[in-house]
Amino acid sequence: MICDAHIHIGYYPRKGYGRPFYYSPRRIAGILDRCGVGEFIVSSTCAQMEEIGIADVVREAREMKRLAGNRAHVFFWLSGHLYDEDSAMKWIETGLFDGIKLHEGETAWMKYRKKALRKILSVSSERNLLVMFHAGEDADCRPSKLAKVAREFPNVRFNFAHCRPMDEMAKVIVDCPNVWTDTAYIAIDEFPKLRDYDWHGRLMFGTDLPVWQANERVGLTKRYREYVRAFRETGLEAAASAAFRNFVASRGHSPLMGRA
Ligand SMILES: [Zn+2]
Repeated sequence: MICDAHIHIGYYPRKGYGRPFYYSPRRIAGILDRCGVGEFIVSSTCAQMEEIGIADVVREAREMKRLAGNRAHVFFWLSGHLYDEDSAMKWIETGLFDGIKLHEGETAWMKYRKKALRKILSVSSERNLLVMFHAGEDADCRPSKLAKVAREFPNVRFNFAHCRPMDEMAKVIVDCPNVWTDTAYIAIDEFPKLRDYDWHGRLMFGTDLPVWQANERVGLTKRYREYVRAFRETGLEAAASAAFRNFVASRGHSPLMGRA
């Protein structure tokens, strides 16, 4: 069964719509069920869209867990604004969240909010929370830049999402044993390139569902099936599912727990 390390719920831009579109937990869970997805990581409502608060994020997480149970690993997308709303991060006590998602392009944590970032990562280390960082070609989001943070917190497991740029990400994977990456939003015709690198068991399959609809008029279930089919052709599915289970193992939902 395919595992997906990178899914979103909440408000996102949608091509042809004037305002952000709401992707409810029910809508997303329905697509995953139709496509036969096993476990998945889903991050909460996009922090830069609409007026959302911590209560909204918690309500959505609860709804997703109700629909998908332990298949769903919910990450709290922590923006600067939501951190300021509750810097003690009391939402952790709900027990709904397996991790935190950070996006340097949305809140410049490394550039302007280092102290807050250190606190968030210290808490992640103490509470055994996983951390997903958006990674990419933008100067502030480069994997080699994020690697500094991963070295500072060797007990925290990070997913530097999107595997971009691929060369640089492969180097970071070698240097940092606590860093995983995912395939979210990689163009299908780039999948074969993934085979040119040794990912040391830390490449996860990810899609970025439902973000395709921000740029294309496409049905999500159809697009999801195409994406899975193309990834399977690389022969990397079994390794990617094992990478996923090892990534989440420390959170105690996985049969691999203790063997990771
Ligand atoms: Zn994403």
